[in-house]
Amino acid sequence: MKRTIIKNGYLIDPGSGREGLYDLMIEADQITLVEKDIAISEGDQVLDAKGKYVVPGFVDLQVNPGNTIEYISDRLPLYGITTPLMMPCNTYDGVPIIQHYGGLKKMLDFCEGHRANIATAISIEPPDTRGHESYIQLTVPINALGKRIEELIDLGVTAIGEIVLPLGGIAHIGSDMSEAFLDALLIEANRFEMPALVHTGLGFEGIRRAVEVAGGRDMHLCHVGSTCSQDSIHKALALLEDHPNITTDTHLSEVAGSTSRNSELVVDYFKRGEVVKIHPESFQVEVPEDLTTAMPPFYYNKRNLLENNIICALSDRVEAIESDELGDGIRAQIMLKNFFRLVNSVALEHVKIKLMSKLIRKLTVNPAKILQISRGTLNIGAFADVVVMDLEKERVETVLVNGEVVVREGLRTEARPGRRIRYKG
Ligand SMILES: [Zn+2]
Repeated sequence: MKRTIIKNGYLIDPGSGREGLYDLMIEADQITLVEKDIAISEGDQVLDAKGKYVVPGFVDLQVNPGNTIEYISDRLPLYGITTPLMMPCNTYDGVPIIQHYGGLKKMLDFCEGHRANIATAISIEPPDTRGHESYIQLTVPINALGKRIEELIDLGVTAIGEIVLPLGGIAHIGSDMSEAFLDALLIEANRFEMPALVHTGLGFEGIRRAVEVAGGRDMHLCHVGSTCSQDSIHKALALLEDHPNITTDTHLSEVAGSTSRNSELVVDYFKRGEVVKIHPESFQVEVPEDLTTAMPPFYYNKRNLLENNIICALSDRVEAIESDELGDGIRAQIMLKNFFRLVNSVALEHVKIKLMSKLIRKLTVNPAKILQISRGTLNIGAFADVVVMDLEKERVETVLVNGEVVVREGLRTEARPGRRIRYKG
């Protein structure tokens, strides 16, 4: 069997607790050996990682494929992401993505064979949902929640999410029954051990109410730092400290955004002249003149957004970091850039590696645990989703997905070994 050996790199694998100079051996789609100095045989593919860091591929808890699933899954490995959790959103033309692929089953089947693996989350929304084309299609009556979850498990969906519930704050959908609905949904989600990812309305109040409704049940709260940008993030973290049943994540970004020009937040920020379009390569920003003709996605900077995101990225109470990518690759790039800048802002080498290890944990094994999927570690027997990164150049050099090289020296290869990751897969 052909073997691939990644040599001379500095391994950081929080999932196995291994850290230091280790070589990795990969056979087929698995890690088969992790040792200090693995001997090379003729015919081995050797990837030299001298001076570089070797980490597990990132598991990203939210990617909205606004520009199609094929487009964004082709780009994500460039930013270290090997397993995105894809969620239905609107395409840039305003069509719900499920409709774009001709229905839910067809969309899920389409998730096989891309450059990245694809885990999927489908939301379940209250019957009185309004204001968002995609979410209106995902409403379920309160007495049919268990049946719907069974159906999603049968279809191989990985998680429920993101469940957008205003809970007293502003969200991009409206519903007057979010608390009763969340309560009923969590009963069923917990019964089926299906991860439930909840997005609460803007502000601390939504987080407080969600935590109260959850009681002691398992729930995941999406991007608390951004949600709490108008209020005190410290208050939110203190509240979560008392509720270990709840997991959470943060963006690592200076911009929030949406793929919908009808989003209340987009309209609000546009009126203030604060909605921008971002060029995907140069990061140049431009203020659109007319919201009705400009092409999504739209970006804006909420108050305290970056500050809160950094606090959350550093806080031990926040388990994961997600890109909340909108389909053009911008927020995934921003997440990676800010990861490098944060790590490189530390002066002392040994502290730098400690910080890096902490952030890598939030990008790999922690989100994999939240999703209950067997990814996010480079332990022996694990799937070989590997990222080799250059901290000095602040870039991802090499990426493997299921043992195949999909990015080499910063450039994409032709390989498309990505698999669809199913419920508890
Ligand atoms: Zn969200």
